[in-house]
Amino acid sequence: MARPFALDPLFRSVTTLPGVGPKTIKLFEKLLGGVKILDLLHHTPIDFIDRRFSPMIAEAPHEKIATIEVRIENINAASRRGLPSRVKCSDGTGVIDLVFFNANKEWLSKQLPVGSIRIISGKIEHYQGQIQMVHPDAIGKPEDRSSIETIEPIYGLTAGVTNKTIRKAIKGALGFIPNLDEWGDTAFIKQKSWPSWKEAMVEIHNPHDASDLSLMHPTRARLAYDELLANQLALGLMRLKQRKLNGRAWPEKHDKRNAILKNLPFDLTSAQKRVLKEIDSDMQSPLRMLRLVQGDVGSGKTIVAALAMMNVIESGGQAALMAPTEILARQHGESFAPWLKAAGVSAITLTGRNKGIEREALLEQIKNGEAQVVIGTHALFQESIEFHDLGLAVIDEQHRFGVHQRLNLSNKGRGTDVLVMTATPIPRTLTLTAYGDMEVSRIDEKPPGRKPIDTLLIPKEKIESMIASVGRQIAQGSRVYWVCPLVEESEFLDLEAAETRYDILRDLFGDTVGLVHGRMKAAEKDDVMERFASGALKILVATTVIEVGVNVPEANIMVIEQAERFGLAQLHQLRGRVGRGAEKSFCFLVYAKGISKAGKERLKIMRETEDGFIIAEKDLELRGGGEILGTRQSGLPTFKLADLAVHGDLLATARQETKLLLEKDSALETGRGQALRTLLYLFEQDQAIKTLRAG
Ligand code: ADP
Ligand code: MG
Repeated sequence: MARPFALDPLFRSVTTLPGVGPKTIKLFEKLLGGVKILDLLHHTPIDFIDRRFSPMIAEAPHEKIATIEVRIENINAASRRGLPSRVKCSDGTGVIDLVFFNANKEWLSKQLPVGSIRIISGKIEHYQGQIQMVHPDAIGKPEDRSSIETIEPIYGLTAGVTNKTIRKAIKGALGFIPNLDEWGDTAFIKQKSWPSWKEAMVEIHNPHDASDLSLMHPTRARLAYDELLANQLALGLMRLKQRKLNGRAWPEKHDKRNAILKNLPFDLTSAQKRVLKEIDSDMQSPLRMLRLVQGDVGSGKTIVAALAMMNVIESGGQAALMAPTEILARQHGESFAPWLKAAGVSAITLTGRNKGIEREALLEQIKNGEAQVVIGTHALFQESIEFHDLGLAVIDEQHRFGVHQRLNLSNKGRGTDVLVMTATPIPRTLTLTAYGDMEVSRIDEKPPGRKPIDTLLIPKEKIESMIASVGRQIAQGSRVYWVCPLVEESEFLDLEAAETRYDILRDLFGDTVGLVHGRMKAAEKDDVMERFASGALKILVATTVIEVGVNVPEANIMVIEQAERFGLAQLHQLRGRVGRGAEKSFCFLVYAKGISKAGKERLKIMRETEDGFIIAEKDLELRGGGEILGTRQSGLPTFKLADLAVHGDLLATARQETKLLLEKDSALETGRGQALRTLLYLFEQDQAIKTLRAG
């Protein structure tokens, strides 16, 4: 089924709207993330200006927005550039000056001919005993009054796009909103007193009072629900598809696993055992496994992955592990080595570094099955690498994989089981929207013997004495990560801040200080990291590159400068780099004077808990779902209309509803099914629609 014709107008370019030309299109794209009329309509107002207040001049209060009918008395054009032009107006009760900078006389006399009556709207200012209005927002003839004296929605903007431009375009766009068949459950919608989708789309762009802008308002809730329903439906369909693809039932054989366990210097935690059982039961069933393992940094996901791999290795299959970076791939390779050796399993690590003949040889080993375990970067699966018989793919995700990429994995083997490991715990609601197509396991327990990390909040003024104390600890064998903050999202300034700190610390501690940042070549980075891991370096100054998760158990101090600039999830990840060894660990969160309330709140949470799941829930509460983890590149879905911090209950309902819907009509063929297909198109869930086509 192709996209319903009714939606066509929404998928046209905004250039077909009044006031949007080829020049502004780039700006619109930047602002909206797309150039369709639909993208524009999903850009909802963040505020409004009420221009209905219409006082006489003498009664117009300072700083109020007012719409006034005036007579133009005279124009006093600027005598030279830089000085304002003034247009004197009156209404019988008083005089008001309209003030313009850089306006030429011709334009002024055309807009405001002396002797004419005009409607002006803008902010009133009482200035040096006079009443004035600088650059009125609107100027019109008396017959324009009704179009000026309105409530004007305010939109998020970008340089070069004014609110006026957006409003004009939106006004045009509203005319294109089609009537669509209801896809929601009518009883539920009635019970909620929600408007239809079309009514909601129109109303959301016409706020009348503050409550209209509330995320809880029925209009907004309706649209948020639609978006969440589309999300859940898409995931539900993908899941059905995954289920339909035949998996393989791996026999329950544990010789190799037991060989590994026997040689482990520790026992598995009960959480690890539980998760492994969940994985086993998936792998032993003939359905394909698509399972997510959530576990905090250091919770011990890697060994679980290795043990899961043995399920397929025992029966002659291959297993692969994909890491987000080259460093991590190498590190996984090193962790795996003793385990696999104990089980007599061969493994190779393949990254961009392997070139030429060496690479050819490795590829051959993958193809002929000699390599039983293959560890690599994501590139592993982008290239056309052929496996002999890939039974299990493990993705160490670190939030860089989307649903679609996961689906692509399906093509690499016959019914390959997929296990995704994610290090940043995310809130339950977000798990449902991001991973609703998967089963979820949680390793919610840390290996025993971990000493708690002491987290201290340090005001910037006290940084000197903190450095002194860090120095003492280095003398006693400590190793220190020193993270410098993101400065205005600029990699360049970032680097400058890190370099400045590096210079200061080098003056104090000499050659034992190293610097690593995002602009270094991979080999250079590895070199510095290795010197830190080996202990040649005691302090590693870094921009956030170390976030990606390097394991240096001897590192027991984490310093984060301007910690208030980081999100909770990021702070948590960074702190997780320490507390891995035998020594007691510290985390110093250095904050600047002007710290915001929210910033302070975040740091306090960090001081209070180390539990990633709690931190994730707090993060959602404090920041809202749209911003959580701070990133778009995270691979997590971002919503335009729904806010998970507020609409969590709607998500639960959407999930429930989806389940019922797909039980009754998994191919979306009934009348309501057709309407739901339209909903999927509306929220551009193209992957899900493809699964319908494939039947
Ligand atoms: P993550 O979940 O962050 O990937 P890792 O798998 O890297 O964590 O484990 C962190 C460290 O804890 C590793 O050195 C690992 O060998 C060790 N470890 C894993 N499980 C246990 C356990 N049950 N008891 C003790 N140490 C463990
Ligand atoms: Mg890991």
